[in-house]
Amino acid sequence: MRKPIIAGNWKLHKTASEAVELVKALQRQAGPVDDAEIIVAPVFTALATVAAALEGSSIRLAAQNCYPEKTGAFTGEVSPFLLKDIGCSHVIIGHSERRQIFKEEDAFINRKLKAVLAEGLSPILCIGETLEEREAGRMFEVLSVQTKIGLDEIAASDMEKVVIAYEPVWAIGTGKTATNEQAQEAHAFIRGLLRETFGADISEKVRILYGGSVKPDNVDGLMAQPDVDGALVGGASLKAEDFGRIISFRRP
Ligand code: PEP
Repeated sequence: MRKPIIAGNWKLHKTASEAVELVKALQRQAGPVDDAEIIVAPVFTALATVAAALEGSSIRLAAQNCYPEKTGAFTGEVSPFLLKDIGCSHVIIGHSERRQIFKEEDAFINRKLKAVLAEGLSPILCIGETLEEREAGRMFEVLSVQTKIGLDEIAASDMEKVVIAYEPVWAIGTGKTATNEQAQEAHAFIRGLLRETFGADISEKVRILYGGSVKPDNVDGLMAQPDVDGALVGGASLKAEDFGRIISFRRP
């Protein structure tokens, strides 16, 4: 059985003190959760204060991005080494906003993923097709390229630390969620790719999250799919009440 993960990507929102307020409200809303891993990903400037607020809590901390070098002359960048130091356990890698706005390519994303693993942290590798690619019948090809290059040269022994998030670009921040069937189809395909590369045993262990307009009213159907192991939530993770309801997907 794969333990579900519900992760909130706060994107470029919340000051440090607002982020602490949000995580405290979330703790009040959700109560103790032991049947799922809960992760929040605030902006870099709020990581330290949120880490302090989470001390003693089972909620884990993720960064939204990183640079694939440890230290050095890389002005403006933040490394997995520093993120670990501040209390992060996870790093989101290859979010579609980074791919689209900042032109990050699969080979660079692969370098980041390796750097995150080298620090003993867990990468959350985001992959997903655009609407144009889906409509051109290229969804499987795109998912295959992003998965294969993203995970190039990763040892099977490291794969249990890797989390994959299938995030169809057309569903992110649009209010247009993939149907349960569309999500299951993509997740089963991705698990098949993992099986080909890393074997059946590993492929059954890797958590594959769905992301793209997950809300309190659609989370239960998505989570009922056999290959959907959790959710990466953007907009709805900024409201403690909504995120709390998403976290309790099995206890509506
Ligand atoms: C995301 O940012 O990863 C995301 C899925 O956003 P939203 O839930 O707002 O679509």
